Amino acid sequence: TTTHECPLDINELGRNTWGLLHTMAANYPDQPTSDDQHRVKQFLSAFSFLYPCEMCAYDFRKRMHKEPPPTDSQSNLSQWMCRMHNQINQMLGKELFDCKKVDERWRDGWKDGSCG
Ligand code: FAD
Repeated sequence: TTTHECPLDINELGRNTWGLLHTMAANYPDQPTSDDQHRVKQFLSAFSFLYPCEMCAYDFRKRMHKEPPPTDSQSNLSQWMCRMHNQINQMLGKELFDCKKVDERWRDGWKDGSCG
């Protein structure tokens, strides 16, 4: 059978990318080495130029400049990512996410066990 998978539109790209960014933050060390910290800073900086939606990348660079990513712990990095995403949710008129639940959503699964 032939599949007809198509290039990602701006929303599919965003959804998939947030999956990577939040999962990466969720799995970042609690006590990162200076190498860990250097790598994640470099990644996010390069990401903010390479993200293949030009206006999104430009907007994200400005936000990162205003509030640089804290790379000193999993918790601080995950909370920062959540705040960045919420800023974009707000700009797009979407519901805000409760950042207290970010580890459940992206690392541990929900407390009711629904993620298996
Ligand atoms: P998404 O916003 O993609 O979220 C996916 C899932 O993440 C949600 O279902 C929820 O479970 C979870 N989630 C939601 N909010 C949070 C949060 N704060 N913290 C943790 N988890 C959360 N689109 C534009 O139209 N204009 C832009 O300028 C733009 N800039 C973007 C910049 C970046 C860096 C990225 C990654 C995406 C950008 N997007 C932009 C895309 C946009 O953010 C959404 O991904 C897209 O609109 C699809 O939205 P969605 O409703 O499917 O959920």
